[in-house]
Amino acid sequence: MTNIVANQAFWAAIPKDISCVAVIGAGAMGGGIAAQFANAGCKVILLDMPGGPDAASDAPARAGLERQIKIQGFMGPSGPGRVVTGNIVDDLHLLADADWIIEAVVERLDVKRDLYQRIDAVRKPGSIVSSNTSTLLHAQLVEGMSPEFRQNFLISHFFNPPRLMPLLEIVSTPETDPALLLRAQQGARHLLGKTVINCYDMPGFVANRIGCFWMAAAAMLAREHCLTIEQADAVHQAFGVPKTGVFGLFDLIGIDLVPQVWRSLVDGLPATDRFHRYDIAADALFRTLVDQGRYGRKSGGGFFRKAQDGLQATDLTTCELRALQPVKPADLPGSGKQVSVLLADTGKLGAYARAVLGEVIAYAAQHGPDIAADPSDIDAGMRLGYAWRQGPFALADAWGIDNLVTHLGSAGISVPPLLAKAVQNGGFYRDGRFLNGSNAGSDGQPALSAGQLRAQGKVILQGPAATLLDTGDGIGLLELHTKMNCIQPEVLQIIDQTLPLLGTRLKGLIIGNDDQRAFSVGADLRFIMSLLESGQHDALSAFIDRGQKVFLGLRQAPVPVVAAVHGFVLGGGCEMALHADRIVAHAEVRMALPEVSVGLIPAWGGCTTMLARGLQAGLDREQAAQRAATIIFGGAQSDSAEAALQAGILGPDDRLVMHRDLLLPTARGLVIEMIEGGYTPPEPMILTPPATLDLSGLAPGGTDYDRLVLRGLAGLWAGQPRSDIQNMQHEKQLLFQLIDRPETRARMEHMLATGKPLRN
Ligand code: NAD
Repeated sequence: MTNIVANQAFWAAIPKDISCVAVIGAGAMGGGIAAQFANAGCKVILLDMPGGPDAASDAPARAGLERQIKIQGFMGPSGPGRVVTGNIVDDLHLLADADWIIEAVVERLDVKRDLYQRIDAVRKPGSIVSSNTSTLLHAQLVEGMSPEFRQNFLISHFFNPPRLMPLLEIVSTPETDPALLLRAQQGARHLLGKTVINCYDMPGFVANRIGCFWMAAAAMLAREHCLTIEQADAVHQAFGVPKTGVFGLFDLIGIDLVPQVWRSLVDGLPATDRFHRYDIAADALFRTLVDQGRYGRKSGGGFFRKAQDGLQATDLTTCELRALQPVKPADLPGSGKQVSVLLADTGKLGAYARAVLGEVIAYAAQHGPDIAADPSDIDAGMRLGYAWRQGPFALADAWGIDNLVTHLGSAGISVPPLLAKAVQNGGFYRDGRFLNGSNAGSDGQPALSAGQLRAQGKVILQGPAATLLDTGDGIGLLELHTKMNCIQPEVLQIIDQTLPLLGTRLKGLIIGNDDQRAFSVGADLRFIMSLLESGQHDALSAFIDRGQKVFLGLRQAPVPVVAAVHGFVLGGGCEMALHADRIVAHAEVRMALPEVSVGLIPAWGGCTTMLARGLQAGLDREQAAQRAATIIFGGAQSDSAEAALQAGILGPDDRLVMHRDLLLPTARGLVIEMIEGGYTPPEPMILTPPATLDLSGLAPGGTDYDRLVLRGLAGLWAGQPRSDIQNMQHEKQLLFQLIDRPETRARMEHMLATGKPLRN
């Protein structure tokens, strides 16, 4: 059913200075990098070693491609078709087409250097060449290469897995061609959706230099402070480190990496570097674990182990395993929520928290200016590369700069100049801005955000659940800010108040927000449930009516309305987006109309817009209705923008954005483009459905209630031609036929209690 050619438009709006990419080495990293470029619509050449005597010549590269399909490195079915596989002996000439050549072969200097000589012989002038090395230096890699090659060469250090990890470290040198560097930075941002950190040519670059120091210091200090590994991990969770804490993280990445990764860092850094104080590669505990093959999750256990009678943890002094002694962050001073209380604690947990954080902040401040072009990137590196909720400098502010300096004095750690400046400024940040950095996006574009607009007082309408902001030039931004941006009556009220401004004060509208998790999870189910329980059918009816009215108002507005969707876009949130003229979607968006799973149907126009989308896409009436039914009855969530396009929730005229930060600016650009193109609102639609429709095939083995819902949907989508407004009235009627049934109640209660659907 998918029209591949029409869908090409979906990728077309992404800037394509780089349209053809070659990746050499189809392992974990190369395969993932290739898939991510293909996800953005680029042509990709993926080369590896030649296949063996009995295998196809591209067998290793093809295996890498297949692995990415299996582990969902691709966002949808179109990506693999953009990848051409080959080998470095027969197919190296293909590199002549590539705008960017990325080497991701084994971590061996001789192998990489040999490859560069061969790449240089075939590549086109001005193509970017980069290495994904994690431990080798730029200077070592380009030794002996031609001046042109050196000017065109970078390190592009991706994190694993390349589709999901948002960070890319780029290492350049004064020799690097600045225009080429900019092209790579912009490509990383627009095509790959990565946030770029510009690094100097130093061991470990930025994130691993600070991250590995932290892990080593945290592990050794836990033993020095006589903490259990459970206590140490709980302290780190309280800092905003992911649930693994530090010892769980060693188990996750593999303790067998310690002798290589930490050793190479210690060896590459001068003896004065504080890394040497925490040389875990030489530490007896780590050596015992490695000698005993206790590498972590990959070997069945490391610091933690799942035994038959429950979880076990390692005693830091004896290295013996013993029963887990669970510690929750909530058990700590400050209940795991107030870092400052934990850091002020006079017991051993507070002392440990101060010791670790003091070391890490001082180290980051000491080396930040030598490793990162913008020291604030250290915080970004720890957030995006290590998933910390906030980076060390932001944690320093949470601690209190004076408290930090007092602690460093008592610990005998000197105050580096960057920290001394923060002392003068009263902190590293003010109003969310780092005081000694550029605060610009990696390609110098200032970001557009609701938070920024609110801080600047650009508020047009303010309510408890939503705000209408002014982005300038008569373009509004409607921002929901309820829990997971669910839709409550107060949200509809702000939309209602916005409608008269469209065409008067406002020339265009964006619907979007800064939340990382959700555009909107839809109507507030608890609110609906409370109305049902208290028998307030009239109030529920008014809620549905008002939703239909304001969403239709958005659709029929005299100015362009663009929804900027990301994270969860579910139910009523999805319907709100579907009523916009166009949708700009973040690549990793999760869209669905899951109402049936709580016994309901989308009644804010979701059933109608889904049918209309199918008809507009050129499907015949039967196909359009079947597709709409598959989306609504199945309720399946599309886990990427491409999957939503494939399902028919998004259309080829909608736009794909790879970087979350580019979502609002792109939506704004689209609104301006539509205004300048002479916007006219869409005509009211007359939907001509099939005369009859049998949807029973969608619920083989389903329940009686499933069949009842399907008959209702078939009734909604079959019969006489109807206007979209009449169709929405039918949606409401069907909703009210279902809403009082015990099966619907049971589905709702189950969802609210367990977060899982009930098929009764
Ligand atoms: P991998 O072992 O999974 O894959 C390496 C691939 O390169 C293999 O398919 C191998 O056949 C191929 N290869 C080896 N020599 C080759 C040559 N001369 N020509 C063509 N292909 C060749 O390794 P990986 O984990 O993907 O790592 C690749 C690079 O990325 C390394 O430099 C590594 O340090 C770096 N890196 C890895 C990670 C990670 O988490 N795995 C993270 C960041 C950076």
